[in-house]
Formats: sequence, structure tokens, C-alpha cells
Amino acid sequence: MLLDYHVHSTCSGDCPIPMGDMCARAVEIGITEICFTEHFDNHPLDMCFGMFSLERFRAELRTVRDDFCDRLTIRSGIEFGEPHLFTDKLAYANGWDLDVLLGSVHWVDDTIVALDQFADADMDLIYRAYFDELLKTVTHGGFDVMAHFDLVKRFGVKYAGPFDFPRYRDRIAAILEVMVRQGIALEVNTSGLRQPCKETFPGLETLKLYRDLGGELVTIGSDSHRIVQLGFGLSEGMDLIRQAGFPGITTYQKRQPLLITFDEIGS
Ligand SMILES: [Zn+2]
Ligand SMILES: [Zn+2]
Repeated sequence: MLLDYHVHSTCSGDCPIPMGDMCARAVEIGITEICFTEHFDNHPLDMCFGMFSLERFRAELRTVRDDFCDRLTIRSGIEFGEPHLFTDKLAYANGWDLDVLLGSVHWVDDTIVALDQFADADMDLIYRAYFDELLKTVTHGGFDVMAHFDLVKRFGVKYAGPFDFPRYRDRIAAILEVMVRQGIALEVNTSGLRQPCKETFPGLETLKLYRDLGGELVTIGSDSHRIVQLGFGLSEGMDLIRQAGFPGITTYQKRQPLLITFDEIGS
């Protein structure tokens, strides 16, 4: 049993891979359950701004569910950027018939943290501003899973060196405490393993802290936008989840979390 709960397709403005191709690849590499989490972005500077079509997403899901019905469980989700800033749109999206709603932060004001543009930046300032934004995001809530918790590491590590967890521990703990209270799951996003920072978003220390604070819901996803990225790092991510003391991985069906234990997964 192999799960990938963060996958994009052409229903996302930044992904050229059709849903059917992703599904075929999933079957090929032994993924048993995939969740398409398409970008729904409302930040006017975002490249995916205004590009999501629910109608098209539903139509494509219908097609792949027919084509892969006996081979692959296909869940539906969206990745909602900066949900606390676009609350009307968030309320709208909460009315859609989805399995899961991811919240993510790509922008802090007009600065995008997902791209390599920190050469002249004060990284400590960027890290703190990002975590402040994350705290606002989870405090607002209205979504199920916090995607790529410390995405700012993606290029931050390139300029500031290895992520200094102790330095941001209190900020991170404050965010995780709210997530536990709100029932927001923590995603282990393995895309960082193929990027310059070479670690998951988040790493083991943050996962352990979430667990220590009473967190129980952990999802896993490769955040694939390309065929070769699908499933990348999932086994490493699962090892971290196990090391942090969680009994398994959380999946979602119609917005309800369901734990799949490592015994059931068979790893
Ligand atoms: Zn994202
Ligand atoms: Zn994504």
C-alpha cells in the first residue's frame, strides 16, 4: 500500500501532466491511493491565479475514476493558497464536494517564498515573517491539512545554511499548538528531498514536536508536477513519520480523516 496525497495535474496552472498520465504512472510504481490537490490560488501575483476550473476538475476526475476504477483509489482535493487572506473564496471552496482541502502559504505579502530569490535577503527576517503568516493561516483554519509546513526552507537553506530548528522552535510550537486544537493535519511533503534543501517539509524535529503537542494527523505527499516526481521520497517520508512516533498515515474521504496504520500499509 502506497499513498500520495499531494499531486497536481493540468488542472493546476503550473503543471503540464494530464491526470490520466499521473494515474498510469501511479499504477506503474505501486501507488494504491492518489489524491489530486490542484492549485486554487487567489493571490493576484500567483501564476495560477484565476486558472482553476472546478467543472474541468470534476470532469477529469470522472474520466480517470472510470479508467482506473479497479487499480487505483483516486481522491480529490485542492491546495488553497493563503486561505486566511481569501476568506470568501475559502468559504466557497468549503462547499465543494472534495475529499480534502489543503491550506498552503506561498506568499508573504508580495514576496513568494517558493522560488529562488533570496540572494540578497535577510533570511532570518524571511523565516520569521513566513512563520508569522503560517500562524495566521492555521488560526483562521477552514481547511484540513497544512501543506509543506516550512516551505521557506526550499531556498532558505541555500542562503542561510541548514535549517536552524532551535532558533524557530517557539514560533513553530505556537503554530503546531493551534493545528492540534483545530484538528489540522501536518503534511510531510517530500518535494524538499529533490530540491536544494534536501529535506522534507517539515523535518523530523517539527514532526516530533507536533506529536509531543498531541498532534495525531499526518499526511504524506510528493507535491508532483512532473511524472518523474510522482512518489519521490515517499518511503523516506514514511520512515520519518514512524520515527516521530505516529502509528500510521492519515487519508481523507469526504473531508473525514482516516488513519491507515503502518501494519495495514505493510511497511
Ligand atoms: Zn504549494
Ligand atoms: Zn502543491
